[in-house]
Amino acid sequence: MFSWKKKEILSLKESLEDKDSRIRDLERQAASLRRVLASMAEGVIILDKDTRIISLNSSAEKIFGVSEKEARGKLFLAVVPNNDISELISKVLDKREFISQELTLVWPIQRTFQVNASLIPEEDGTINRCLLVIHDISEIRRLEKVRSDFVANVSHEIKTPLTSIKGFVETLLEGAQDDKENAKHFLKIIQDHANRLDNLVNDLLSLSFLESKAIVLEKQKVDLNRLVSDILSGFNSQMRKRSIEAENDLPVGLSVMADRDKLGQVFTNLIDNAVKFNREKGFIRVYSQDLDNKVKVIVEDSGLGIPAKDIRRIFERFYRVDKARSREMGGTGLGLSIVKHIVELHGGDVGVESTEGLGSKFFFILPE
Ligand code: ADP
Repeated sequence: MFSWKKKEILSLKESLEDKDSRIRDLERQAASLRRVLASMAEGVIILDKDTRIISLNSSAEKIFGVSEKEARGKLFLAVVPNNDISELISKVLDKREFISQELTLVWPIQRTFQVNASLIPEEDGTINRCLLVIHDISEIRRLEKVRSDFVANVSHEIKTPLTSIKGFVETLLEGAQDDKENAKHFLKIIQDHANRLDNLVNDLLSLSFLESKAIVLEKQKVDLNRLVSDILSGFNSQMRKRSIEAENDLPVGLSVMADRDKLGQVFTNLIDNAVKFNREKGFIRVYSQDLDNKVKVIVEDSGLGIPAKDIRRIFERFYRVDKARSREMGGTGLGLSIVKHIVELHGGDVGVESTEGLGSKFFFILPE
């Protein structure tokens, strides 16, 4: 009797231990699954067939600004008041097939999502749950828009001078070439437009080169004062014509480790703008400030300045305060974006302080 009891107790103990270990296994699996869901970049929501939320991972919490604790057991539409997603869920539950749809959310923040909705079959084949996987594709869509805007801008910038060139060539061929005075004037206009196209293509080539992964900076010790002196002397005749004075106040011997040609391009573009957008008898001053292990170089001018509303976008490609004026002066609207690219390739930052009507201070900060 006693030995039978002992045997029974032993087997009961074994079976309890077995169950215990299976429960621990299941708990481990569930915890591992929770960790996988929590580390997913996509939002994941599981709903029952009445569209009540069973669970949502931390990405979904962030997207919709709710916690799993608050959301659990509630109807989807009560937690996420978005009719598009709600209709998608109803459609999946109704049609019983996988649906993938791009949706734009305006609340809580404007974003574009690819929402994949599918059903989760249970072991016995019944369907009681629905799975939503929400992939944030806002950045992909933004980049696509940047690219298509860029192509539209380039096409427009090329089309304008090309139309003028064609028009004036036609006029010349139709007889204007016999009128010497007018013919010279038209040829001068054609030359200006051809120069604009040349500038544009050169700037586009610079940009595409700077953006290519293949770019290698040939860094060397660059004496800033000497570099700016050389560049300023190239603008002498332009400045003289409009009585603009330039001062190079960079300390003698101040240097940075940089690609000399590219840094020269930065100064050329900034000084070119400081001349172009200056007033008659204005001034330009180039000076520096010492920051911790960094040097800040400022190109100051007494020109038009930039309206406060435009400052935020001034380094964007093709962004110009006054398009017609910029074109008239041979500008392409790409100079500042080239400056930004070069400085950022050197691990630096660019910026501007400006007061409309008084002048601007364009600056860049580079590691020494
Ligand atoms: P671009 O000079 O060819 O027009 P940029 O990219 O160099 O193109 O400059 C973009 C715009 O920023 C200019 O069209 C002008 O409106 C404004 N800008 C740039 N530099 C200055 C400056 N020093 N003073 C006033 N406005 C400026």
